[in-house]
Amino acid sequence: MNGQMMQQPLLISSLIVHAERHHAEQQVVSRRVEGDIHRTTYREIAARSRRVANALAALGVQAGQRVATLAWNGYRHMELYFGVSGSGAVLHTVNPRLHPDQIVYIADHAEDQVLFFDMTFWPLIQAVASRCKTIRHWVALTDRAHMPPAEQAAKLPNLLCYEELLAAQSDRYDWPALDENTASSLCYTSGTTGNPKGVLYSHRSTLLHTMAAALPDCLGAGAGDCILPVVPMFHVNSWGIVYLGPMTGAKLVLPGSGLDGQSLYELFESEGVTLSAGVPTVWQGLLAYVDAKGLKFSTMRRSAIGGSACPPAMIKKFLDDYGVRVIHAWGMTEISPIGTAAAFKAQHVGQSADERLAVMATQGRAIFGVDLKIVEEAGHELPWDGQATGDVYVRGPWVISSYFRNEGGDPLKDGWFPTGDVAKMTPEGYMVITDRSKDVIKSGGEWIGSIDLENIAMSHPAVAMAACIAAHHPKWDERPLLVVMKKTGATLTREELLAFYDGKIAKWWTPDDVVFVDAIPLGATGKMQKIKLREQFKSYVLPT
Ligand code: AMP
Repeated sequence: MNGQMMQQPLLISSLIVHAERHHAEQQVVSRRVEGDIHRTTYREIAARSRRVANALAALGVQAGQRVATLAWNGYRHMELYFGVSGSGAVLHTVNPRLHPDQIVYIADHAEDQVLFFDMTFWPLIQAVASRCKTIRHWVALTDRAHMPPAEQAAKLPNLLCYEELLAAQSDRYDWPALDENTASSLCYTSGTTGNPKGVLYSHRSTLLHTMAAALPDCLGAGAGDCILPVVPMFHVNSWGIVYLGPMTGAKLVLPGSGLDGQSLYELFESEGVTLSAGVPTVWQGLLAYVDAKGLKFSTMRRSAIGGSACPPAMIKKFLDDYGVRVIHAWGMTEISPIGTAAAFKAQHVGQSADERLAVMATQGRAIFGVDLKIVEEAGHELPWDGQATGDVYVRGPWVISSYFRNEGGDPLKDGWFPTGDVAKMTPEGYMVITDRSKDVIKSGGEWIGSIDLENIAMSHPAVAMAACIAAHHPKWDERPLLVVMKKTGATLTREELLAFYDGKIAKWWTPDDVVFVDAIPLGATGKMQKIKLREQFKSYVLPT
């Protein structure tokens, strides 16, 4: 017997329809590439998204075709989120920090038809346009006054101006009643090895992920919030925040290209931001700025940090010095991206500050919808005893089932997606990631978790960033080598840093050596690129 409830597909267009009806006057504030602060509302964004849908039809874009963006977080990019996906086309958010060759590769692979870009990326567009085989129209996300100079523009046939494109269209449009399993957006994984692979989300997976992201033990967002996603809209749909805003009615503040400490801090304060989200490296810049100036956050209360391990020292500093609660979360492009978040259970109420910090420092518990397990090499599940360490497998309605164009074949094992992360689980169900499987250091056959070693280094007051990699060792095969970037003006010696490990870990885990560098290479999504460091130090000879 079937239930007697309405069959309504879960569609991305329904988010902006809801926001227009129930939160019409709620603000969306953007720092534009034109240099100013722009204010709009959900009412306006809904109307302009409908113009986008009409414009795509006028450009001949058909259902299922890919429409690319190379853009910062801003209201125009947001209009494309709803206009493109809502009309049945697929929004392909391209990461502008990728190498131009990779951008050409993924634009061709996705067979993008139209590409919308922020003017910041005009030099990049000029460099790649003639090499992209399928793009028929290039649309600058600006008005006529800020378009490229005529002599440059003349070299790119089919260059259009976004504001003119929208002005020529009606804001009347009926969102199609798509099947909820229709593809809605496409992101390519960072591709540390080989070519990037596409992850194709559906309307259904996106809606379910957004609802779960809004839960109190995840991002916990509501209409009273003002959310500033530092995480870019080209990095896994800004972790769902651009959908979360219209779903909950929260105010959104979109920071554009201004991701330095000062620009972010100014927006936090002037707009009354209560919740933010980003990778640890961004917060380092912000905290350094706020520290140096002796500032406080007057409204910010929660900050979701993920994408790579958030050092416990950062969680503690946010809480003790600024009253900001870090929500440490874990996820990946293949899982839309959120899988776990570190929220307390009832038993943690009244625990000591150190005990609570230990909970906050884990990658957190699975949110409903994501099931996970840790397995040993043969694929057998390991116990959740806080000791056993194994590969993390996940499954759920917003977890990938195969890559775009079936690249790489079937990624699943017995219906589970192997994440490539290595973790242990506490008996309460909190996941503690010890490594990426590729980054694990194997010393004499035993694993050493590089994240633990990095977290300790980063709790030293003189350390800005630390990466731990395996260096070849004649006896133990591999031993940990710590690569450290000091804070500006700080002094620190190898011996002092190694002594700092005493009593904090098993003695044999202590890194064999420390090298100080001016900078640690960061990838396109702000993560430390250990692959580059391993290359750089592949012939490194450890002291004996
Ligand atoms: P991406 O698909 O580029 O977002 O990268 C996903 C990977 O980032 C995961 O598989 C993890 O290795 C890493 N990652 C994400 N969040 C965390 C976290 N909170 N702690 C440790 N690693 C993380």
